[in-house]
Amino acid sequence: KRLTSKGMWQLEDVKKTLPKRQLFDHKGNHGRGLIIGGCKEMPGALSMSVQAALKSGAGLIMGASSLPVIQMIAGNCVEATYSALSATDGYLDNHSEINLDSYDAIAIGMGLGRKECTKDLVKYVIEKATCPIIIDGDGLYHLSQLLPQINERTHPSVITPHPGEMAMLLGVSVRELLKQPFQYAKEFATAYRVYVVLKGRYTIVTSPEGVQMVNPTGNPGLAKGGSGDVLTGIALAMVMQKQSLLQALSNACYIHGMSADLLVQHQHSEHDLLATDVINGITDVYRTIS
Ligand code: AMP
Ligand code: MG
Repeated sequence: KRLTSKGMWQLEDVKKTLPKRQLFDHKGNHGRGLIIGGCKEMPGALSMSVQAALKSGAGLIMGASSLPVIQMIAGNCVEATYSALSATDGYLDNHSEINLDSYDAIAIGMGLGRKECTKDLVKYVIEKATCPIIIDGDGLYHLSQLLPQINERTHPSVITPHPGEMAMLLGVSVRELLKQPFQYAKEFATAYRVYVVLKGRYTIVTSPEGVQMVNPTGNPGLAKGGSGDVLTGIALAMVMQKQSLLQALSNACYIHGMSADLLVQHQHSEHDLLATDVINGITDVYRTIS
């Protein structure tokens, strides 16, 4: 398998490494995932991640949020299960009630909000989860104050920042980051021993060892609210199926971008493409790949 530093992840790589479904499979063979996110202003972020994860092949997905958020979004994805967590003024607050033990991977942060109580939840997951975790969105905002905790983890951690979030974590300007995105991503990944998915036109995936992979797919139709939440859902589905993480994350970026590319070629334009269209477009990606 080609895994050269700064390599471009290609369709053949996806075909070679994508999790296969076998004749006698059951849902347990395709992983259990937990997605924690959503608040009163951003219920849709959790909804999109949950839908994207199941659409990408995840075996079982549990969405965790406040009861009002769950009541709002559950009808969008009836295939998922949901866990209601306590909240204050529309933001998740109590973390000790979540059981993190029975999952193959956990994603946290999409639409979580930046209130102090949500930071404690992110801290709890970083400290207690004994499976790979993916931190996105507002989880990354909190991560800047949780760097010692991330360093302590003995199980893999993944972060999925856009350039604004990466720059914030590094303490540099976006302009400075984008002058040397490979160097900065590698610096962070190796210093904190995390997988970094630095999103953009050409998303760069970096392993904690500093191996880097570039994703060629995607188009400006993805420059829209919700795109990142869809990517996190796809990434969770890949990671929880116990692949090599560098391959899992590269495949997630490829599928996400390819869905947008096929949609723009056939049904949509870059103007009207919505994040939920990208979820539905995963169907065509899989039909094309397999
Ligand atoms: P977020 O900013 O968290 O919503 O994430 C945006 C997602 O859309 C990432 O996966 C980006 O790589 C992707 N994206 C945004 N703009 C573009 C673009 N111009 N070309 C390709 N992908 C893009
Ligand atoms: Mg985002």
